[in-house]
Amino acid sequence: MVRKIKLQAKNREFTRKISELSGEVAMLCEQCGTCAGSCPMLAEMDITPSQMMRLVQLGQEAVLENKTFWVCASCYTCTVRCPRGIDPAKIAEALRQVKLRQAIDYIRIDEIEPEEAKKLPAIALVAAFRKMTG
Ligand code: SF4
Ligand code: SF4
Repeated sequence: MVRKIKLQAKNREFTRKISELSGEVAMLCEQCGTCAGSCPMLAEMDITPSQMMRLVQLGQEAVLENKTFWVCASCYTCTVRCPRGIDPAKIAEALRQVKLRQAIDYIRIDEIEPEEAKKLPAIALVAAFRKMTG
């Protein structure tokens, strides 16, 4: 059974915004932790995908200061394993969208040293720029 959570208007607004952007209902998350236990990127994250879900449920905009949604590789392992049929990858994408719409990129092209750029696989750079920059 999913317990009802009472949120303040400000928090409700943030949860609703992420729902609209993602098409997912974070409130359905039962905090089972399957997404966290399945995520191949967990070691690179600062909070687990299930903690990210919890913060979105609670309407905590502080989740935007974490890097988990940037690090998410959109591999959809969590998506296929979630017992509640939620897609945490889409929630992560929605959180990225909020930041990108504020013109806050995760990767700054001008901060990559030319020598460093030469060593990076071009396909990885293109993928990163498409996902993590506005
Ligand atoms: S797997 Fe689904 S229900 Fe479980 S914590 Fe993750 S998002 Fe919530
Ligand atoms: S889609 Fe993102 S959060 Fe989900 S398992 Fe893959 S890397 Fe982890």
